[in-house]
Amino acid sequence: TKFNIAIDGPAGAGKSTIARKVAGELGFVYVDTGAMYRAVTWKVLQDGVNPLDTEAVARTAAGMKIELVPGPDGQLVFVDGRDVSSDIRTKLVTDRVSQIAAIAEVRKLLVDKQKQMAASKGIVMDGRDIGTHVLPDAEVKVFLTASVRKRAERRFQEVQGTAMATTLEEMEKDIARRDMLDEGREVSPLVQAADAVMLDSTDLTIPEVVESILEMCRM
Ligand code: C5P
Repeated sequence: TKFNIAIDGPAGAGKSTIARKVAGELGFVYVDTGAMYRAVTWKVLQDGVNPLDTEAVARTAAGMKIELVPGPDGQLVFVDGRDVSSDIRTKLVTDRVSQIAAIAEVRKLLVDKQKQMAASKGIVMDGRDIGTHVLPDAEVKVFLTASVRKRAERRFQEVQGTAMATTLEEMEKDIARRDMLDEGREVSPLVQAADAVMLDSTDLTIPEVVESILEMCRM
């Protein structure tokens, strides 16, 4: 039987790694909603749209085609047919994305798309507002978190040797700043759903977190 799993939490909590593995174990499809907000942000920057002009940003979001394609090494993201999977992970995009994600019209567009993707069930969706707004009826809801320090350390390890490499201090500041923007925005702020199970992964390994979520699915 198919059902849906919502995984929310702050930046760097390991949501995408965990969600991908859980989806793999269950034979479900993984959907990374953060990638969609990143795709809009990338397009806004690419087209030279003023990120503060909410109407222009909303128009850009409405006029672009975003495709999420599940691949062996994770989800690929296409904008108007172009593979932007790595372009959407740059610091430029990361620095702007929370501002774009705070625009109500942008959220409405993407949330509608996300609801459609989950309609046939068998989806593991990660984001900030999945359990609260996108899939309020998801059968399994997880709020995945970890200390800011730990999240910064993990992200730091991930980006070592890549174009996104930075210092641990910078990483910690960036994560704390995005948390503040995501928790403080007016539309669908980052918050744990009342019926979500909170998992603090600070002292847990990836397999341990995956196993606890699979355990929830068996109940
Ligand atoms: O998950 P990721 O860190 O890639 O998400 C990038 C940004 O997109 C978040 O910091 C947040 O501002 C926004 N986001 C959101 N709602 C979601 C997923 C992501 O607002 N469901």
